[in-house]
Amino acid sequence: MEAEFVAWLRTQRRPRPDVPIDLGDDDAAWWQLSRDASTVLTTDLIADGTHFELDRHRPDWIGRKAIAVNLSDMAAMAVEPQVALASVLFPRNLELATAQAIYRGMWELADEFGVAIIGGDTNCWSGRLVLSVTMLGTPTPRGVLRRQTAQVGDAIAVTGTLGGSLAEHHFTFQPRVREALALHQHLTLHAGMDITDGLAMDVSRLVESSGCGAELWLEQIPISDAAHQASRQSGRSALEHALGDGEDFELLVTLPPEALEQAESIAASGVTLTRVGTVIETPGLWQRQQHGPLIPLEVTGYLH
Ligand SMILES: [Mg+2]
Repeated sequence: MEAEFVAWLRTQRRPRPDVPIDLGDDDAAWWQLSRDASTVLTTDLIADGTHFELDRHRPDWIGRKAIAVNLSDMAAMAVEPQVALASVLFPRNLELATAQAIYRGMWELADEFGVAIIGGDTNCWSGRLVLSVTMLGTPTPRGVLRRQTAQVGDAIAVTGTLGGSLAEHHFTFQPRVREALALHQHLTLHAGMDITDGLAMDVSRLVESSGCGAELWLEQIPISDAAHQASRQSGRSALEHALGDGEDFELLVTLPPEALEQAESIAASGVTLTRVGTVIETPGLWQRQQHGPLIPLEVTGYLH
């Protein structure tokens, strides 16, 4: 139902001259009245039973995650997060201490990234816990990083390691805001987004919105320890976990291959960027082994 609903929603756009970016990227943007600066907005909703289990997971981690996923969307477009609105629907029988722990988790991470939670709403109802956070940010003088501007020949690169996020990582991950701002400042990034539904699916989305395709170099993909651990129990390979688990919240960027060499010079600032493929003219998602032919690659991924 949700995929159909989102597809329908995309057909219902109401374009306005003061909204340069609406559906389709990680954040939206609108021109302030002065038109000398834009504000970037994003919102994310997480729900008990879908994104977390209230009876199994630490309440402060649940609150943290509600902020973290929004920060990751700010990082996705290399935007500086500024303020947030947090709205929460509490189950009617929830203990006060649990509600407070949820908010403490939100504030702790928001403080770490200099984000003020300036408003929101809370209500009780007969259903399960739902948290919705809306975050506003400002682009740097380099402008926002979009999905639709990848160029044929670009290197495809990711931060960090991928896979196995379902263990704990999807609560404890560090949103790549500082990394995104550093990369965007020092390198010529062409396109970018955050990895939420798995590398394979998110690379497909990025190149599709740029009107190109992608070849992935599977042996170059940085696989997390958690993906190796998950592989021992799941019977799937660690690579499959890295390609399709989702909720990695790492950055996916495209940039001229020669710019990647400079990436090593900013590695000192703690950003590791690994090249995992190339943007190609042929649409679709492909894999290539060293000197081998292009082979279609299945688009696996986690659909919320
Ligand atoms: Mg995103």
